[in-house]
Amino acid sequence: MGFMHFDDSLELLNTIKIENPKRKKIYLMDALGYILAQDIVASHNSPEYPTSAMDGYAIKCSDQALKKLQIASINPAGSESEEAVEQGSCIKTFTGSLMPQDSDTLIPIENVTVEGDKIIINEAVSEGFAVREVGENYAKDEVLIAKDTLIDMAQIGVMASLNEVNIWVYEKPSVAILSTGSELLELGQTQTNRSQIRSSNNYILEAMVNRYGGKALQLGCISDDRASISQAMQEALAGSDIVVTTGGVSVGDFDFVKDVVRDELGCEVLFKGVRVKPGQHIMVAQKNDKFIIALPGFAYSATVTALIYLVPLIAKFQKSPSSLKVIKATLKEPFVKRAKKAEFSACNCYLEEGKYVVDFEGKKVGSSAILTNMLGSVGLLITSQEDNSKDVGDEVEVLLLG
Ligand code: AMP
Ligand code: MG
Repeated sequence: MGFMHFDDSLELLNTIKIENPKRKKIYLMDALGYILAQDIVASHNSPEYPTSAMDGYAIKCSDQALKKLQIASINPAGSESEEAVEQGSCIKTFTGSLMPQDSDTLIPIENVTVEGDKIIINEAVSEGFAVREVGENYAKDEVLIAKDTLIDMAQIGVMASLNEVNIWVYEKPSVAILSTGSELLELGQTQTNRSQIRSSNNYILEAMVNRYGGKALQLGCISDDRASISQAMQEALAGSDIVVTTGGVSVGDFDFVKDVVRDELGCEVLFKGVRVKPGQHIMVAQKNDKFIIALPGFAYSATVTALIYLVPLIAKFQKSPSSLKVIKATLKEPFVKRAKKAEFSACNCYLEEGKYVVDFEGKKVGSSAILTNMLGSVGLLITSQEDNSKDVGDEVEVLLLG
């Protein structure tokens, strides 16, 4: 099978529709990072009554002409006084206190001198000064947070102010993660022969899944044995929404993943083989409402292709766009185009005088094993199959990560 144009692979990914995304009701303080599956509508005006915005004295504005007012009483926040402001008098009132009846203005403490049980007005204020009007924050029936919004700090605060104790969110898709390779050692496992290497893929993927809105199910490493891979993948598929594997999708004698997906799991292959660097052997398959993404084994390839294909798929389960950001930046160094493929090249991307710029300092050129290229204020410079080399000053697109 010939390799497909990168844009076509994205288009195929985009056609995936998750028909009935699962929803659940959860406690507000567990909702950080979820996507809201309901509109949040104001149940009341905020504030519900005129409220003082400063410490001072509630007055009738026109009484300021009298210069001297009687302090009738004191009205702390949290008290529900029925007492009204009479002409020629005031009520001491604090930030967050309800404005007493028949008052229209709050003259701050700083504007008056207290003499016994009277205040002398040194500096008058305009009508309505320091009074928070009904609905200043929000009005009853206003949609404050729309469905499909990512729940962050501010959303939690606003929902708390509405006493939304439990809210509807989209269930995060569960993503089973499996690395294949007989040479792989898991975290903490003792090395027993020189050919073994540490696996990083399943760990970076676990972090990525949890960071970008999925629920990672870590299944560790498995050796290049067709029966073991088949059994592990079947179990993984039964227990998750998405199965992501690394390794074993290339053309080597021990690359069994692609055969297992096709021949034993009964999946429909959406695409396999894309003209993209890194990661050309990537495979995406579907079985009913579940998906398999088989990524290449090299650590840099697995990471980049997961960002390209897995992160947007996770977002689809929650009706949200992928939260990855592509920005425009200016090259500070030339970029040498090496392959007639879409390329995702690790670069440093940072702000300089308010504009994003790109250089390649410290980035190694070599195989797709070099994961340390992902450290720092990193971005992935994106070029298409049709692009040529680029010069200093050229504008480029960068997938921003750091
Ligand atoms: P493969 O795609 O299985 O041919 O693997 C390609 C390269 O990636 C080989 O050098 C593997 O040793 C390496 N590799 C495979 N899986 C992992 C992993 N989980 N972590 C780090 N490197 C890996
Ligand atoms: Mg392998």
